[in-house]
Amino acid sequence: MPLRSTEAIVIGGHNLADADRIVVFYTEAFGKVRAVAEGARRIRTRFGGTLQLFSQGRLVYFERPNRTLHKINEFGVIRLHRGLREDLERLALGSLAVEAVSVGVEEGETQPALYHLLAEGLDLLEDATRPALVLQGFLLHLLRLLGYRPELSECVRCRSAVFPQADAFLSVTQGGLLCARCRPVVPDALPMSSVALGFLRGASGSTLRVIDRVSIIPQVFQEVTDILQAFIRHVLGRPLRSADFLARL
Ligand SMILES: [Zn+2]
Repeated sequence: MPLRSTEAIVIGGHNLADADRIVVFYTEAFGKVRAVAEGARRIRTRFGGTLQLFSQGRLVYFERPNRTLHKINEFGVIRLHRGLREDLERLALGSLAVEAVSVGVEEGETQPALYHLLAEGLDLLEDATRPALVLQGFLLHLLRLLGYRPELSECVRCRSAVFPQADAFLSVTQGGLLCARCRPVVPDALPMSSVALGFLRGASGSTLRVIDRVSIIPQVFQEVTDILQAFIRHVLGRPLRSADFLARL
């Protein structure tokens, strides 16, 4: 069995019999990887509680050719992201971020940029002043990396320009903005204020750290959240379980 080594972030997992655990990673070099941590739930384990949700580290695993379940050899922690697990809101936001990645990618697809977005996203969700806003920026960048960047400058149907100062309409199924002429023929057109549109346009060209410094009123934040959740639901083909968790807080 070939031995592979890469930076990785724990994005999920579940327990097996005999104290073993399946851990799902998003890795820098090999995309999504599922691997067994043998004996991970015993008191004396070489993994020592490092394989928790959001943990980032250097993963060494045995690749089982033609199998989707590999075997973990070693995990050297870089960041445990303990702060994400100890605060209920940050836990919910972080859970949504890793679930969106886990559902959005197939095994065998490698995208280092997505790994770096997730690493930066989790760091900021742990430390940011406005973690809920950072999550929206994360989702917007994630959509782009998954190949579903919402069109925010022109009408997706007729390609006419939609001016930033005007209130606009947006369709999730069409993938972005609609002009006033095309709107009536698209059944799922959602109204969007010019401020929310301005935020989305700015955020799509900004790092998450910059987005954390933006100040928007709660009403616009809600608008942006609703729009991005609708896009994510559409692209992933189902609602995320963590979205419910977050909504109940
Ligand atoms: Zn149009």
